[in-house]
Amino acid sequence: MRHIKSIALLLLCVSLLLPLMLSVQKETKADAAGEGNFVRIGLAVPENSSTLRVASMNCDAGFRFGSSTGNAFVSRFELSETGIAIIPDRNYSVQVNNGRATGRASDSGNYGAYHVLVSGGYSSYSAAKSAAAASGGFVAYDGSCYEVRKGNYFSKEEAAKNGTATEPVSGGVAILDLQTGKLLLEYTGTSALAFCGKNERDVLIYTNSDVQKSYPGFFEISSVPNIRIINVLELETYVKCVMANEIGTNQTKETRRAFSVLVRTVPMEHKHSAHGYDVCSSSCCQAYMGNYRRDAENDSIVDSTKGEYVAYRGKPIVCLYHNSNGGTSCSSVAAWGGEEIPYLVSVALPENENNPGSSWQKVFTKEEFNDYIHSRSAFSALTGTIEEMTIESTDPYGSSYVTLLSVKDSKGNVVYTENAMPIRGALGVQSGNFTLSYTMNAPIVNADGTVTQEQAEGYVDAQGEYHAF
Ligand SMILES: [Zn+2]
Repeated sequence: MRHIKSIALLLLCVSLLLPLMLSVQKETKADAAGEGNFVRIGLAVPENSSTLRVASMNCDAGFRFGSSTGNAFVSRFELSETGIAIIPDRNYSVQVNNGRATGRASDSGNYGAYHVLVSGGYSSYSAAKSAAAASGGFVAYDGSCYEVRKGNYFSKEEAAKNGTATEPVSGGVAILDLQTGKLLLEYTGTSALAFCGKNERDVLIYTNSDVQKSYPGFFEISSVPNIRIINVLELETYVKCVMANEIGTNQTKETRRAFSVLVRTVPMEHKHSAHGYDVCSSSCCQAYMGNYRRDAENDSIVDSTKGEYVAYRGKPIVCLYHNSNGGTSCSSVAAWGGEEIPYLVSVALPENENNPGSSWQKVFTKEEFNDYIHSRSAFSALTGTIEEMTIESTDPYGSSYVTLLSVKDSKGNVVYTENAMPIRGALGVQSGNFTLSYTMNAPIVNADGTVTQEQAEGYVDAQGEYHAF
């Protein structure tokens, strides 16, 4: 999570340099994230390395289930249970502790995904539920029709001994009652199942944290093969939720007003559209934790900029902000290469020395450095002893960000890494804005003839010439 200290300054500098190009625009329906003013957030998504085996959730009003149009929830039926666990529709082992379910796929657990068909063809959930109650079964729903199934088997063969066997579908989910552990519903549709809290209530969900957080809007849930949750909500509500997690509540109101415009602009890039959502919930995009730390004053600040976003030539900008700048921002070309983005240029910025991230240093012995580089997957082609790391070039647009780095080993292998962001990732350091220096433990002959080991950065040769190590 980033705590923004200098965002107002960044905005100011960018606006001063490009007064004619960047503008703050009022959003229209077509401009907003998603279709209409909605944002789709990857809340628990495998591509964001968030593995969720069981989604454990509560809503004191109960739940509504149905389908999603992408930005709107279509209700089909309701469950009055207030605590549910949603698992992938596979053989599973689920445990409930203190109201939270955990579990994993297992052929010897307590949920067998194979069942026996009792009756089918129901057009309403309530008709199927009555039939299920009479037969001791449960309701299965495929997105349009309902049927009644019963039993709990770990293989099709086992289920077939008791009647017509049903089998789970890929992407389907099963919903269990957190109180009783009983199966409430098996969903066998091909598109994600949608749900929300009844009576417009927010839903408490355990994602991957030990704190159950409250989330507004509605949700699409499927399994691929672990649980995948997309949270869909109004753009303005999303901005309010992000504020406290990214800027906090201590900055001046005008700083937070300016920042709210950036927060609203970020999802308009649709960075994760290939995955079916606009933004993820981590600092890759912006930290989103539902209503967690949401603050009434921030809410009114967001209302004061409602619909405003930063635009370049009428379109939302690729909106990036940072925790700490180290005295300069990085041009887009130095950061990732590719086409120049005219408003993402390198700008000298006042450094915030109070920010603990504004400068950093890593010191290694030669052996530690060798081990460290060998531990980084980006340098796996280096099989010999690491001999040298060299900054080959820096930002052609004037900043000190490293744009080409080489690392050599004793076998003559060389790995080149290009552009500041990949270099930062390859080295596992805080930024691509760094310099390298080498020192050496050199024997120093003292005036009394004793010898001590001292850190030296160079040596003088027999001709009296100085050479840096
Ligand atoms: Zn992201």
